[in-house]
Amino acid sequence: MNPHSVIVSVLALACSLNLPSGVCGVQDNDAASAGSLSVPAIKKTIKQLAPLHHELGEPTEGQWLAHHQEPGQTFAQYLRIRPNVLTRQRYKLYVQPIGTFSKKQEELIKLSAEFLSIYYNCPVKTLEAKDESEIPDSAQRNHPTWGDHQLLTSYILEQVLAPDLPADAFATIAFTSSDLWPGEGWNFVFGYASFRDRVGVWSLSRFGDPEGGVDAFRQCLLRTIKVATHETGHMFSIQHCTKYECNMQGSNSLPESDRQPLHLCPECHAKVIHATGANPLNRYDQLIQFCQQHELLTELKFLQQARLTLER
Ligand SMILES: [Zn+2]
Ligand SMILES: [Zn+2]
Repeated sequence: MNPHSVIVSVLALACSLNLPSGVCGVQDNDAASAGSLSVPAIKKTIKQLAPLHHELGEPTEGQWLAHHQEPGQTFAQYLRIRPNVLTRQRYKLYVQPIGTFSKKQEELIKLSAEFLSIYYNCPVKTLEAKDESEIPDSAQRNHPTWGDHQLLTSYILEQVLAPDLPADAFATIAFTSSDLWPGEGWNFVFGYASFRDRVGVWSLSRFGDPEGGVDAFRQCLLRTIKVATHETGHMFSIQHCTKYECNMQGSNSLPESDRQPLHLCPECHAKVIHATGANPLNRYDQLIQFCQQHELLTELKFLQQARLTLER
């Protein structure tokens, strides 16, 4: 199953802050606000960080790039397309839970919101959960073979999220506890997003059992924040990465996604720094703190190396 093939791009983020501008890297349209890095300074980070990263080899059968011809996107190419960036008008990410969640699932959503706010340097606000009863029977089903309860992605995007998109939203991302399907001919999707409408929805139902102990919860957390940040990256106009091992690589399956890192390659990191106005060292500090707190040790090791490299 392909979690991305129908994902156009989108998303939202948030950091419990409620800042009107400036403090969290808000940009005035394309012009970076005071304190954020210039394009030449961002380009310098690409050169500094490159030695830490592994370039991709030839894709093997079953991997995303074996089945999708994608051109990739350098930082220079990204700048030329006038990407979506945080602005003074649209600077906040909203998280919308839909359905009922266990305590552990609620924790996953809370931590995902926190992580998104760090990763994309912007306020994230988690909205009050909506009840699945708001979704009509015509937009719900039980899978004809497996029996899994599923919600129709297009209804959620077009009828639930888009009409209520707040004026200051860069995007809204919804999490559901039910599985998702995008329409006839599909079994399921992990998530679906609309770049045009700046809304997206992701299901927690296929990321493992967060009640299954400490290690299982950690795996669910890593999967959830990985997909949330990847899809939000698309909303910032970041295309799939074809050069390095990177969170913005396309993925054909959960095992393939599991092998990909949570961090960004130097080119995609530069795009995020540009789009969000984040200070790279401050951003790394916060990511390191999060990964320490939640024992995401592989990521922690990389982030510590990257921070040291940029500090030199
Ligand atoms: Zn993608
Ligand atoms: Zn990349």
